[in-house]
Amino acid sequence: MTRVVYVNGRYLPYAHAGVHVEDRGFQFADAIYEVCEVLDGRLVDETRHMERLERSLTELRIPMPMARRALGRVLRETIRRNRVRTGLVYLQVTRGVAPRDFPFPKGDISPTLVCLARRVDGAARAERAEAGISVRTMPDIRWGRCDIKTVMLLPAVLAKEAATEEGAQEAWLVDCNGFVTEGASSNAWIMDRSGALITRPTGNAILPGVTRRTLLDLLSREKIPLIERPFTVAEALSAREAFITSASGTVMPVVAIDKKSIGNGHPGELTLRLRSFFHQIAELSDE
Ligand code: PMP
Repeated sequence: MTRVVYVNGRYLPYAHAGVHVEDRGFQFADAIYEVCEVLDGRLVDETRHMERLERSLTELRIPMPMARRALGRVLRETIRRNRVRTGLVYLQVTRGVAPRDFPFPKGDISPTLVCLARRVDGAARAERAEAGISVRTMPDIRWGRCDIKTVMLLPAVLAKEAATEEGAQEAWLVDCNGFVTEGASSNAWIMDRSGALITRPTGNAILPGVTRRTLLDLLSREKIPLIERPFTVAEALSAREAFITSASGTVMPVVAIDKKSIGNGHPGELTLRLRSFFHQIAELSDE
């Protein structure tokens, strides 16, 4: 449970933290966010998360709420005050507060900045990785700029809810040509018969995952063949291995898609190897 929340320059008790009812994040989802893994009290891949945050803001023409170094201090202080050793830190920036109107507000409004940190049960996560997860496929009904990390997450919420109702832990979203775009909150990967990994190239259809990017570094270090191309649900069903990547789960094995087993129905060997190597290659910050 988060006990201290950063809101616009103040660290507040969870129950008393809030933003204005006319915040554009609340009314229009006019806001972006980042989620960063915390390991041993350190930020994982801070540089890449900050780069993506700046890119998302630039795409929406929201100014940086403060310099990158200062943002880094907010992240660290929120982690410290919540005594998070293993967990996640969440940062959200909205365009700010203004009377409700669709165009950007005129004049100078300050972006709203919120930061929360939360502990994650590392043992439960490890158990989940040992068992592997199930995914459910469904149509990708999101918009044309999924490369921007906005809080406009309703399609992802509905997809994840539908998956959960059927006992799956993630939804794989499928475009109108039958190709998997990505997970509701993760990037999607398969390993083909030849042992090559396949994942969709970045572009407007998917979020350029930080975990995905760092895994690409690991693949080149380990000389594991990679093909960046879209894959179909049928290909995924006949894959030897499958997995998802995200900051909250790093590399998480997928053992079933639409209730059909992948490979031998257990987490893939390569998948588990990549999972175990992941933090060797990721950037770990100071505390
Ligand atoms: N795609 C989507 C739609 C996501 O929400 C996420 C997680 N935020 C990812 C991919 C994975 O990105 P990252 O590795 O940066 O967590």
